[in-house]
Amino acid sequence: MRLILLGPPGAGKGTQAKFLVDAYNIPQLSTGDMLREAVAAGTEVGKQAKAIMEAGKLVSDDIINAIISERISQPDCARGFILDGFPRTLEQADALYHMLDDKGMKIEKVIALEVDDDALVERISGRYTCADCGEGYHDKFKQPAKEGVCDRCGSTEFKRRKDDNPETLKTRLFAYYKDTAPLIGYYHAYRMLNTVDGMADIGDVTKAIRTILDA
Ligand code: ADP
Ligand code: ADP
Ligand code: ZN
Repeated sequence: MRLILLGPPGAGKGTQAKFLVDAYNIPQLSTGDMLREAVAAGTEVGKQAKAIMEAGKLVSDDIINAIISERISQPDCARGFILDGFPRTLEQADALYHMLDDKGMKIEKVIALEVDDDALVERISGRYTCADCGEGYHDKFKQPAKEGVCDRCGSTEFKRRKDDNPETLKTRLFAYYKDTAPLIGYYHAYRMLNTVDGMADIGDVTKAIRTILDA
């Protein structure tokens, strides 16, 4: 199964992708995670992306398309994948179509998570992740069962993203509405779009997504 999770920053794409990885046994391809790894490793891509990401702007389509094209050619993507944070512009969506078409493949479903702006601010402000396994948490909405200990791997190290602050979020939301929201109309036009109420509890959002995917 090949699917796209679409939605503004903080909508819950990463959270839901993690459940779908386990449920369908296909990898999550998060361009945000890949870029953060490139920044941490100090690669050429990382050097180019660092300041752009810290400002909350979008990294160039050329860089992103190259990263995804390389990634979906790897063997673990043969059975399918979950795109989280890509495509984010109409140009990326067209590039994705062509990369897959060249392999005789296509995206089966697009799931758009709808969340109010006020809730996004709250979700982003309270977001943190396990420093070892990347499991996502929230100060209010998703705390580890045992305080300070990761449910998934037992680590006691957590981290917060530098760009998860109200000021940068404004720029990221602007980029979302200007460059990414048009994808909703694009995929609707191709009859691929499914919308889900992302304001619901995490488990209810998962159920709604699974209903769509299993239909
Ligand atoms: P995205 O990948 O779309 O940027 P995340 O999955 O990282 O978003 O979610 C942002 C934050 O909101 C995380 O801290 C996560 O735990 C929390 N969160 C995700 N989904 C929900 C939900 N349905 N209700 C409340 N909080 C949520
Ligand atoms: P979120 O879903 O919380 O906004 P991501 O982790 O998906 O965050 O992305 C973090 C940052 O990485 C973005 O603000 C942007 O600078 C960059 N980025 C990630 N994916 C893309 C993409 N497909 N196109 C351009 N820039 C991207
Ligand atoms: Zn962990």
